[in-house]
Amino acid sequence: MPVFKRDSFDRLMGLQGRETFYTRVSKEVSRKPETSWSILYLRLVNLGAYNVRHGAAAAEKMLKFVASSLTEWLSKSMLCRLETGSFLGATPSGEIEAAIDAINRRLPESSESDGLVLKVGYCALRRGASVQEAARRARYAYEDIRFSGSVYTRSFDQGLEASYMRRLYVVNHLDDAIEHGEIRAYAQPIVRVLTGLICEVEILARWESERYGFLRPDEFVPELERHRLIHRLDAEVVRLACKQWSEAHGRGINVPFGINLSRLDFELIDMFEVVTHYMDVYGVPKEQVHIEITESALAQSNDLLLTGIQRFRDAGFKLYLDDFGSGYSSLRVLEGTSFDVVKLDMSLLREVEVNERARVIVSDAVSMVKRLNLQTLCEGVETEEQYQFLKAVGCEKAQGYYFSRPMSHEDIMAHLVETAHLHETSEDQRYYDSLGKINLMDGTRSSVHGVEAAHFMSTQPFALIEVLGQSIGILSANVAFSRFVESSDAHSIDGLVDRMSSDLADLRNKLLYATSKARATHRSQLIDFVMGGNFCTFGVSHIESSEGRNAYLLELISVTRYSKFNDFKLLEDSLRFLYTIFKRIDLLDATDNTWRNLYLNVPRYTGLKTSPEATPQNEVDAFCETFIHPDDRASFLAFYDLSTAEDRLRKSSTTYLADTFFALSDNDRYEDQLFMLIPMSMDGHRQYLSCMRDLDVAALARQHVSGSSRIADDVLLTGILDVTERLVFWKDEHLRFLGANERFLDYYGFSGIKEILGKTDEDLGWTRNAHFVTDERRVMRGERVLDVVGYTVRKGEARDIMVSKMPLWLEGRVVGLVGFLVDVGPHKEDA
Ligand code: C2E
Ligand code: CA
Ligand code: CA
Repeated sequence: MPVFKRDSFDRLMGLQGRETFYTRVSKEVSRKPETSWSILYLRLVNLGAYNVRHGAAAAEKMLKFVASSLTEWLSKSMLCRLETGSFLGATPSGEIEAAIDAINRRLPESSESDGLVLKVGYCALRRGASVQEAARRARYAYEDIRFSGSVYTRSFDQGLEASYMRRLYVVNHLDDAIEHGEIRAYAQPIVRVLTGLICEVEILARWESERYGFLRPDEFVPELERHRLIHRLDAEVVRLACKQWSEAHGRGINVPFGINLSRLDFELIDMFEVVTHYMDVYGVPKEQVHIEITESALAQSNDLLLTGIQRFRDAGFKLYLDDFGSGYSSLRVLEGTSFDVVKLDMSLLREVEVNERARVIVSDAVSMVKRLNLQTLCEGVETEEQYQFLKAVGCEKAQGYYFSRPMSHEDIMAHLVETAHLHETSEDQRYYDSLGKINLMDGTRSSVHGVEAAHFMSTQPFALIEVLGQSIGILSANVAFSRFVESSDAHSIDGLVDRMSSDLADLRNKLLYATSKARATHRSQLIDFVMGGNFCTFGVSHIESSEGRNAYLLELISVTRYSKFNDFKLLEDSLRFLYTIFKRIDLLDATDNTWRNLYLNVPRYTGLKTSPEATPQNEVDAFCETFIHPDDRASFLAFYDLSTAEDRLRKSSTTYLADTFFALSDNDRYEDQLFMLIPMSMDGHRQYLSCMRDLDVAALARQHVSGSSRIADDVLLTGILDVTERLVFWKDEHLRFLGANERFLDYYGFSGIKEILGKTDEDLGWTRNAHFVTDERRVMRGERVLDVVGYTVRKGEARDIMVSKMPLWLEGRVVGLVGFLVDVGPHKEDA
């Protein structure tokens, strides 16, 4: 960023340029050979930020002040200006630190809080050494304290010598290193946060030098950039990366890779040519390569860089914005150039575990990037906690030591071979890239297949679920959803998953039904469910399908605390018991032509085709073939013919269709089973509940022991009459005794049934209770009389009794009555 025009400043200050300075200083030094000179590299740091904060005029004032202070100290002839805010100087005095201190003290107080400070690196000029070389070392000493908050002066000493020499070495030996194969392309795996699968690698340069051993990019990349040699390194890294990819490809491994390009690569050579050349040579398709450009490169962007990037873009390469959030220009960077992936700088993640603000920043950065329709990748993941956090905020990809360090080609190959089942296929990539667009913080999604973004409150609980066949899993959930689940009776996400995989769970069946419907109709579906004492409404919408699996957004829409929860629970529990009298319940949708199993009690019936595409017809055919006795198959298929069901229902006297068929049962025998089709309609859809159960025992007896069914009933009746405490009798339509149980005969002391058979009360001399006769006449007209009090004489003793009587019907006519009598104690005279 240009602070202000250098020319006008220089004219004003009258400072000389670098070359004049070198000549003058050399002359001065040789004039006074006994003096020990120091060459200084001086810099007023943070001038750029100061300029932004206080304006160009204030910044210029500061710079002028420092320049005139330096002139005062060193004299004009021993000072020169470099780029804005930095100077070279020479001094024969040893009081460098004191002089710098004095200047800094005279800067206005406010400048300290702005970080505006003069720093110096200096180097003693050895006899016979060149001033230029001493100036380079002075600058190197300055670089060492550049970012230090409290150290303002640094002398180039023994401690710096080694690393300085290494840097020189790097610059002077790059070509040799390339020739001798010392440059290596290491690779670091990047994983999909949702699944933990490896989705790509980043290529990182390493230098295995003969002289210095293993060098990391920090030790050579900046130096190569400074000497405008970086493109040679990068070209070599690109060549190695393509070569390694093709080797891996030859072994059946196709993992995309990213390369780091420097801003200077675009200025120094035609990097696009280089990259596409090596890709041609090694046969690398462009979907397998992406380009990383750092945020700082863009901050100082120029046309060459922008057009260079655009060329990669136009050719269909994916572009990654590296180190996002490491500098202050970042937000504007997103506005201009179009990237595909934003890599969040690891400095953002460092604080996440301890600092609430950092959590806000990262989660909002992820949301923002998603709203821009870009993917998010977080660098520098080192702990499980950080990984979990990224999961919760919906960051898509992650990279860091927690998963793996950068590895040599040999090591990464071994790793990839070993973990081959843990890589994404290209189909996985498409599927998860699409899911990645869901913003878990607020449920919005950047358009997926043109489906418009859904907007919900930011606190709304959301989860991304996946249905594969009949099993349901949770891919990710936002913090609000996890909290909700923890406060419910499911207790944890795992608890909820358990519930969803239990056959008996109502939630599971409801979800399976709603998800398939949401997918078929492309519309959100609502489901209600009682959870932890709350009446909850969830919305389900389909996001993406891939190879039989389907992903859905599950959103909690409302929660009502239901005070009569116990009633609900009771109802649910009782319904569950009701289910169990069925072996199998299915829902057939005649409108959608879909079928879904809702309940299954007999494991053998699960062997049926359960593909999500199953139609009622497929299912019925398959069931028929496997389980129905050949003799019954034709009629079974006719029964399940939904096209005639409507018609059959109209003709039927019942509100459902029912029939029995001979079917293979649990014990591998054919047994009669009852099948029912109960019509329902929902949302204008014609649906049938299909239920299957054993025939009940009595009906079974009637069917299979035909002719002796009476005996079965008699046996049953005798049994009942034997065990009841009551005295039971029954009479014909003329109120004559037809029978009584043992207890009745005992009570009155009859020796056998013959004593009463065919007799009326009158015949037996029981005339004391006149109202009994009227009651019995009413019963004969079809009424019931219950608990009527009267009294009787039993073995000479008067006793109070209570009698209930009911009509006995045969073919629509009352043919008799049955009476129940209870002795309530000795007779009390009416008051
Ligand atoms: P970068 O592109 O941001 O690469 C990520 C750096 O973070 C790598 O450092 C990597 O080793 C390191 N890293 C990965 N995971 C973790 C973690 O969990 N914790 C910590 N503390 N660090 C982690 P490396 O390999 O030293 O590279 C440093 C930088 O050098 C790179 O930063 C990149 O800007 C540059 N660079 C690397 N290779 C090349 C190259 O071939 N060409 C160019 N132009 N630059 C390169
Ligand atoms: Ca990078
Ligand atoms: Ca980075």
